[in-house]
This record gives sequence, C-alpha cells and structure tokens, in this order.
Amino acid sequence: MACISLSEVSRSYVSEAATSIVLDKANLDIPKGAFTAICGPSGSGKSTLLNMIGALDRPDSGTILIDGMDITTLPDSMLASFRNEKIGFVFQSFHLLPVLTATENVAWPLYFKAVPRRERMRIAQQKLTLVGLAEHANKMPGHLSGGQRQRVAIARALVCEPAIILADEPTANLDRNTAKDVINLMQTLNQEYGVTFIFATHDPLVISHAKQVVTLNEGKLIFLSSSEMKEAASHV
Ligand code: ADP
Ligand code: MG
Repeated sequence: MACISLSEVSRSYVSEAATSIVLDKANLDIPKGAFTAICGPSGSGKSTLLNMIGALDRPDSGTILIDGMDITTLPDSMLASFRNEKIGFVFQSFHLLPVLTATENVAWPLYFKAVPRRERMRIAQQKLTLVGLAEHANKMPGHLSGGQRQRVAIARALVCEPAIILADEPTANLDRNTAKDVINLMQTLNQEYGVTFIFATHDPLVISHAKQVVTLNEGKLIFLSSSEMKEAASHV
C-alpha cells in the first residue's frame, strides 16, 4: 500500500483578478521509505502540494490518504494530533524559536503530547546527537550556523518519530557544502531509519539525490523518467 496516495486532487486560488489552478484532478502514489523530490519552478505549486499532504491545507476536491487514512475528511480537531503523530516538517528558513536553546526547540513538539519535561529534554538530546549536534545542545539558534540550524530543525522534525518528513526547499538558504551535508544526513535517516522524505525543491543537488522526482505540469503530477532525472540533476 502507498504511504501517500492522492486521488483526483484539485486546488485553486481564487481572487478578484484571476483564478490560478495549482492542481487539477492530480494523482500520485508515494511508497513507504521514499526519498522523493517534487520539483518545478517558483510558483508551480510545490508548497501548496506539500501543505495538503501535511494537512496544513485542504484540497477543493479529491482524496489524500496517509497510511490509508483519508485526511481530507478528518475534522479540524483531529488534524493537529494527526500531524504530530505522522509528519515532521522542515522549512527553508528553519522556523526555530529564537529564545529557546537547540534542545528546547527540538523538545517543543513533545510538549503538545504531554511528555514530562525531563523526558522531553532526554529525547531531544538524543535526536540532536543523531544529527551530530550534541555539543551545541545548549546554544540559541542565533549562535548556530545555517547548516546547524537546519540540523536542529531536522532533529525537531524527528522528535515524535514521524513516518514522513516533508521538507519545503530545505537547502535554499544553505551554501553548497552545507547543503550536501544536510542532504546526506536526510539520506542516512531515510536509509537507516526508514523515514519517508518528500522534498519541494528546485535545487539540482537535492534532485540528484532523490530516488524519484515528481514534477507539476498543468495541474498534474508526473514522475520523471531516469533520463529526465539525470537532466534535472545535471546542473549540480
Ligand atoms: P511554489 O511553492 O512552487 O513556489 P506555491 O505552492 O507557493 O508554489 O504557489 C503556487 C501558486 O499558487 C502560485 O501561483 C501562487 O501565487 C499561488 N498561491 C499560493 N498560495 C496562495 C494564497 N494563499 N493565495 C493566493 N494564491 C496563492
Ligand atoms: Mg514554495
């Protein structure tokens, strides 16, 4: 069974000036353990798609199954716990809380699961060790480099042991060497722990590491062939 399954999903933005159709009865199946890039130029709908898979936004029509559960009909009251259980998010600009230490940032999602503080901090430190930041656990984000901040964000995404991590342009604010390190880390988490990764990206470096690449074309989602993937990754 697919881990993520979109069926006939449509999403438009309507304004007085225009209607922009982002997805038009799009279909997509992504298996468990995938390391999949959603690629396309700015404005093509990558974030919209990721936000719907992560239940931050709802489609106008169609169904989205995550591990067999239809999240499009899930009541609002259940969406937060669904996200907390199943999905970790990583963003381009890290989205760390500046007044919290690295450990406190990583521990934050566990607060909403009513995990006691001592246990939250223990789990957060374990995740920081996993991403290679054990020595920086007590630092504020302002005292960390961009690459280190993104590692903290990845540790936070992992803290509730999600099946899926959605990463929206995770390398866009990183220099090339740091971007490579961050992708290698995500690849290790994918291979060793089986976490499913979906990236929204137009970074050829991310595309070159992806197992599959999906593109958005006139509202449809299409897997690239291996030669198209090579071409898309050829500008690294
Ligand atoms: P990408 O992440 O690939 O850059 P987005 O998903 O952010 O693309 O946007 C896709 C299209 O939808 C764009 O044309 C954008 O202008 C439009 N769009 C995105 N979010 C909104 C919104 N909240 N209101 C109106 N239009 C939006
Ligand atoms: Mg985007």
